[in-house]
Amino acid sequence: MTALRVPFFRAEIAQAEIDEVNDTLRSGWLTTGPKVKRFEREFADAVGASHAVAVNSCTAALHLAVEALGLKAGEAVLVPTMTFAATAEVIRYMGAIPVLVDCDPITGNLNLKDAEQKLDQLRRGALLPSLGTCPRVVGIIPVHVGGFMMDLEAVDQFASRHGLWVIEDAAHSFPAAWRKNNSQSWRRCGEGTADVTCFSFYANKTITTGEGGMAVTQDPVLAERMRLMSLHGLSQDAWTRYSGGATWDYRITAPGFKYNLTDVAAAIGIHQLARAETMRKQREELAHYYFDQLRDVEEIELPAEDSNRIHSWHLFPIRLRLESLAIGRDIFVEELKGAGVGCSVHWRPLHLHPYYESEFGWQAESFPVATDLWKRLVSLPLFPTMTKEEMRWVVDEVKRICAKHSREIAQRRAVA
Ligand SMILES: *Cc1c(COP(=O)(O)O)cnc(C)c1O
Repeated sequence: MTALRVPFFRAEIAQAEIDEVNDTLRSGWLTTGPKVKRFEREFADAVGASHAVAVNSCTAALHLAVEALGLKAGEAVLVPTMTFAATAEVIRYMGAIPVLVDCDPITGNLNLKDAEQKLDQLRRGALLPSLGTCPRVVGIIPVHVGGFMMDLEAVDQFASRHGLWVIEDAAHSFPAAWRKNNSQSWRRCGEGTADVTCFSFYANKTITTGEGGMAVTQDPVLAERMRLMSLHGLSQDAWTRYSGGATWDYRITAPGFKYNLTDVAAAIGIHQLARAETMRKQREELAHYYFDQLRDVEEIELPAEDSNRIHSWHLFPIRLRLESLAIGRDIFVEELKGAGVGCSVHWRPLHLHPYYESEFGWQAESFPVATDLWKRLVSLPLFPTMTKEEMRWVVDEVKRICAKHSREIAQRRAVA
């Protein structure tokens, strides 16, 4: 395999992370300990949350969140069809039912109007007839796709109206913020109205620990339950037992999981966190370069922008105008790859995956926006260390492929 000229993503690991990891390795304490405690404290401060529980993935954080909120088998939770596997699978871990919801055509985020419609259809027995009786819908998990936050006030009002808890899948949205209609007060992702907000530190997310995640909440009871369940349901963790005056003894108080983050990973996270806003600004600047350079390319649409959002710019998803192009998305992606540009698609919607199709019988017609949108999506490379040359290369290749396959140009050629 030849290396790509511009990879889809390249993690930025600075000397500070390397030094901190070295320090951790030399300290003799590798697993959950003082560095994790520090990372949790500093992350909670950064998002304005009262409690933060560090875990080894965002998937683990989501699982702990639904468990702590008491999700039961047979109950149902609203989730966007336009998301990654993790958002819905944690509902299945609990034996509960993910009720998929279509997306907004502009942002790609969960569409609350469709959520309302899905609830209505569910009550009338017109949705998922295979379920028989209507399950009790207890929660909603919005995703801030690409780092463009949903209007959390609207989510909160919807949830209150229907008596639902809210877990934000914030895997893309650190750091990010939103405000209502140019008001003075910004609200950070994580200090919102959600019961729990879950972040990802996977290798290609906005900040990374290799693998890692964080669940934050304002609720001490939820925080305590998630902490307990993140480590076998033990009454005290190893660091507490072996440092200070505590003893070797512990009690198993619940059948928990093994989701704790290591100090080695937290050592990376502490310094990624310190540079998070700097890296966000770098991505924002690169996103603006894409906007400037690609604005006039008729064959594509650019992602949504809004003066009421501080966008994390985790992704830069363009949409092909298939009516203007003689090729489809897959060939577009192949040609970009042939030109040395790594790209991706976020995502094939959940209802078009075999598991959700066969297990629940979801139909493409129930999600007209997502079903159409995903065929046009291409995420371009966007990461803080992208050079001007790399940006230029991506822009030039996107323009070249669009021009080569433009229907309009082909028509003009035929006429001439
Ligand atoms: C990456 C991702 C996750 C899972 O994060 P992990 O840390 O890899 O578990 C969850 N939801 C969304 C939307 C993601 O993109």
